Parts: sequence; structure tokens; C-alpha cells
Amino acid sequence: MSLATSLGPAGRTALVTGAGTGIGAAIARALASAGARVALVGRTPDSLERTAASIIADDGEALVVPCDVTNEAALDQCLKFAESALGPIEILVNNAGVAFSAPLEKTSDEDIDRLMKVNVRAPWSLARRLFPGMAERGFGRIVNIASTAAHRGFRYCTLYTATKHALAGMTRSLAAEGVMKGITANAVCPGYVETPLVERAADVISQKTGRPAEDAKAALALNNPLGRFVTPDEVAAAVLYLVGADSGAINGQSLLLDGGTPPV
Ligand code: NAD
Repeated sequence: MSLATSLGPAGRTALVTGAGTGIGAAIARALASAGARVALVGRTPDSLERTAASIIADDGEALVVPCDVTNEAALDQCLKFAESALGPIEILVNNAGVAFSAPLEKTSDEDIDRLMKVNVRAPWSLARRLFPGMAERGFGRIVNIASTAAHRGFRYCTLYTATKHALAGMTRSLAAEGVMKGITANAVCPGYVETPLVERAADVISQKTGRPAEDAKAALALNNPLGRFVTPDEVAAAVLYLVGADSGAINGQSLLLDGGTPPV
């Protein structure tokens, strides 16, 4: 099947990790409003149920699939459950991620293992499991949610930056491997987005510096060349574009969404 031949997300099955909160919830809602059946994967059933309820209230189709994406056995069960209920997964959005900031000397073996497992190993595990089916059917769309930290370094962000660079690199190689099989893989790389992740980052800055959390949050927004937070819906719109009917020729890209980080 040609890469240019695609129907977009309508009538297809999508799986979104970290779909209970923030960017993942916005992506799941956007895919469902575009007509996809969406498997909502994450660790916390309550937040997944909230995303599902908002999708179903808009006449969309969603399935709650509680799963820790770092647990290989759970991933197998999660895919089996999702595919038996919704059909073969054709769109994979690896969104679940953890952030962490600390000066290098305060980072540990446990920290790097924890970040690698969620931000790199889980996207690889899911892509590895779904790739053969996508190839057999001649269609697949993989979108990995990376970060501006996939494009440049940030002080006190060694581990997060390393994992997001790894994710962008993995995306390029998935793209190269999938190109003749009807599979595209792209990364979306937002600057600071107003989500629970940023709330936690502002709280950490506040605890460490004594600055009010609201001030810390405002400073984070100003780090975006855009001068404001990116919204979860803006990230979701980029994902929709990459899985859209006319985006089959876009492959291996790493799309920055922050208002214009200068190239390194
Ligand atoms: P968030 O904390 O709201 O979302 C992360 C989601 O991942 C949560 O729902 C969490 O439960 C889930 N998750 C984490 N570990 C998991 C695991 N082991 N198994 C299953 N689910 C797990 O934050 P967000 O800002 O919406 O982040 C979503 C993605 O966007 C992340 O990959 C993050 O790195 C990336 N990102 C965020 C920002 C930002 O400023 N918020 C900027 C660039 C990139």
C-alpha cells in the first residue's frame, strides 16, 4: 500500500498511553472526535475513566485499559484486551512519560533506569509488538511525544534530555524501517505545556528556591519562545495532522511545537 493512501483516523483503532491526564487525554479526545476507536492506556483507572466519559459524552468510542507501560507482561495483556475489543491497533501514540530535573551529581542509577523504562523502553516495547501487524496490514501510524528536550540540552535535565533524544532517534529509525510497509513514525516535540507534569515541576522549583509556585510556573511558560504555555489541544492537533489522510509522506520527522526554538 502506498504511504499516500490513507483514510485518516476515522474508523481506525488507536492506542494512546498516558491517556488519563494532560496531553494524552487531549490526544485521545481529538482522535475520538476524528472518528477513531481509542484504547486509553495508563496506570490510574479513575483518570482514564474521566477521559473515557468525556469521549463517550461526545458520542466517541473509548476503552479503558489500565496498564503500567513498564510491565512487559501487562503490556501483552493490554494489547490483547484492546485488540479483541476494538480491532487491530493501527495508530499508536506513545505519550506516557516522566520528567525529572536535578543537578547531575544528584542523579542516581535508579533515576536513569526509571526514566529510560517509561520514556524509551515502553515506546520501543509497544512499537515492537505492533509493528508486525501494521506491516502485515500495510498501514500504521506511530507518533511519539518527545519534547524540545529531544532537540537541545537543558540545565539540570540530563536524564530527561537523554531519554527524549533517544526517543527522537528511535522514531527516525522506525520511520526508515516502516517506510516500505505503509508505516510512518514521527515525533511531536512540545515546549512547556500546561499539564500536571508542569504543575509538579513548578512545585519542585518552589520547594528548592522558595519562590511561589505560580511565579515558577510563569517563568516556565516564558521559556517557550512563544511566550506562553503550549496547550494540550495544540499538541493533539499536531498528532491528528500526522495521522491524517494526507500525511502519509511525512515520516521520521520531529516536529517542534514551542513557537520557534532556534536550530542548534
Ligand atoms: P502528565 O504527567 O499529565 O502525563 C503523563 C502521563 O503518563 C500520566 O497520565 C501518567 O500517569 C502516565 N504514565 C507515566 N508513567 C506511566 C507508566 N509507567 N505506565 C502508564 N502510564 C504512565 O504530563 P504531560 O505533560 O501530559 O506529559 C505527556 C507527555 O508529554 C510526556 O511524555 C512528557 O514528557 C511530554 N511533554 C510534556 C511537556 C510539558 O511541558 N507538559 C513538554 C514536552 C513534552
